[in-house]
Amino acid sequence: MKLLLTLAACAAFTVSAQAQMARPAQTFDTSAGPVKITPIYHAAMMIQAGGKVILVDPAKPANITGLPQADLILITDIHGDHMDQNLVTTASKTGTEIWAPPAVVKTITTAQPISNGETKKWDKWTIEAIPMYNMERGPAPGKFFHDKGRGNGYVLTYGGKRFYISGDTENIPEMRALKNIDVAFICMNLPYTMTPEEAAEAVKAFKPKIAIPYHYSANPPTDLSAFQKALQGTGIEVRLLEWYPKAS
Ligand code: ZN
Repeated sequence: MKLLLTLAACAAFTVSAQAQMARPAQTFDTSAGPVKITPIYHAAMMIQAGGKVILVDPAKPANITGLPQADLILITDIHGDHMDQNLVTTASKTGTEIWAPPAVVKTITTAQPISNGETKKWDKWTIEAIPMYNMERGPAPGKFFHDKGRGNGYVLTYGGKRFYISGDTENIPEMRALKNIDVAFICMNLPYTMTPEEAAEAVKAFKPKIAIPYHYSANPPTDLSAFQKALQGTGIEVRLLEWYPKAS
């Protein structure tokens, strides 16, 4: 029995060590202390600062086992790669706040609505909901995958540093008009959002210090080198993270 328990403990350690390796966190210094951002899967990420945990877009098949419970869950849109009631429940504890666009609140009914253009304070964060939408692409002529006004991108500010999470969007004027972004998480996948080249054009317009592709396609793979190449010589640092860890 003791041996079994030891083996189980070893197995648990191995799994969590692998999970850690598959999730290289990025740490950013701010005037209020470090902000640590961990890619989880596709659009799901964990943001940690000041002892608090923000979870963005927990959705299948993200593996959140072993991660701390969230103090705040931010959701961008109604699609299954951004919201999932089971994962929201799993990630929640007493007092967890959930913020989401009104269209998401219809399903995740414990969420508080936040709409495009709204800014709210939470802990030491200022969180602004930014439009995200298609201008061209949709499932049929005249229809869009993401209608303007339905989903939210977010700009999160902590200790003077500004983090932008695009949500699912094309190269929209509201993104191009962003100011003073330190770190930008930019979607790129067809047919739903935009090409790496279009994403690079958008990024060139608002010039974040660091641009991190996320919410792309692992299979068939999005050509992230096209995004890197288009931003060469602009002074914008491109960082590639592992958003599609293989199941261990
Ligand atoms: Zn999506």
